[in-house]
Amino acid sequence: MSLNSSQTLTIGGQDLVRNGSRTPREDAGAVMKPSTPTKKPQPPRPENGITIAVSSRVLFNMEKEQQIFEQQGMEEYIKYQVEHETEPFSPGPAFSFVKALEAVNTQLRELYPESEELFDVVLITNNHAYVGLRLINTINHHQLFIERFCMTGGNSPIGYLKAYHTNLYLSADPVKVHEALEEGIAAATMFTQEKMTEVSETQLRVAFDGDAVLFSDESEQIFKAHGLDKFFEHEKAHENKPLDHGPLKGFLEVLGKLQKKFYAKGQRMDCPIRTYLVTARSAASSGARALKTLRSWGLEIDEALFLAGAPKGPMLEKIRPHIFFDDQMFHVEGAAEMGTVACHVPYGIAQRIPRKGVKDKETSPAVK
Ligand SMILES: [Mg+2]
Repeated sequence: MSLNSSQTLTIGGQDLVRNGSRTPREDAGAVMKPSTPTKKPQPPRPENGITIAVSSRVLFNMEKEQQIFEQQGMEEYIKYQVEHETEPFSPGPAFSFVKALEAVNTQLRELYPESEELFDVVLITNNHAYVGLRLINTINHHQLFIERFCMTGGNSPIGYLKAYHTNLYLSADPVKVHEALEEGIAAATMFTQEKMTEVSETQLRVAFDGDAVLFSDESEQIFKAHGLDKFFEHEKAHENKPLDHGPLKGFLEVLGKLQKKFYAKGQRMDCPIRTYLVTARSAASSGARALKTLRSWGLEIDEALFLAGAPKGPMLEKIRPHIFFDDQMFHVEGAAEMGTVACHVPYGIAQRIPRKGVKDKETSPAVK
């Protein structure tokens, strides 16, 4: 995929919105009213909430600014940001996901006014403090409920992620994502995409790959070492032995916990959270172990799609998740090309360097 900020609207529908609130063209030159909202709901305490930490570069599109930093250096970068302080950034790849989290929160607050079991979005950035003001202005412009804001000054975010009991960390920087995974924090790398399909405004949809995402990569290792036949044999022989957990299991778990709160109020069929397993496993030969593993964990998944090696992109295009997690860049790229916001979980044996076209210049110190 080649990456820039535009959001392509491909399909119409009543319940669908553009993936982001406005196009970059609309945003270009738009001058915000610097606004400090007067009434916002209180965020939950970190130990009670479900903390989703996002970097500024995945929440907003900062490609142009990143280019200035890379080509002209830090001073010009800061100067540009300050000069454009009243212009909001346009939405980035995590924007619609964050909006959907807030939509779920609104519904949870209606059903459970006293409960702090809510999503809490924390913005983690190592931007210069001068840029912070533009970020805050942009948050207010897009009416996002983000109260927690960490400017790490170039330091590793791991300490902050732990302090906030982070349940999911999304960043454009694969090094930081890797670091978070090493610490046992669910994390994924996001890329600015050219095309983002419309997504639901009222129902949060999250799609997961199985092996090396929800599950460990133990079966993947068999496949890589001995091929498909041995893999099938192995999975059949170990059908009743649950797979070990993978890096995103905990996030599915917290989604399940919130789903149960909706079920308890009679909202099973129209639950505002829906989860999907989208795996290359085939149902007959290796699917049973995946489903039995989820069951052994006490986790439900709303829909399980066993693609038996078929491409994931077309199926995800139908599901229209706000976010899709996969450990293999091949699947991430395939999904992103078809408009799904796809992110990479750099975990397990199947890692390789992202292919050209996926911008991966995340090691620069200016913007994460
Ligand atoms: Mg996988």
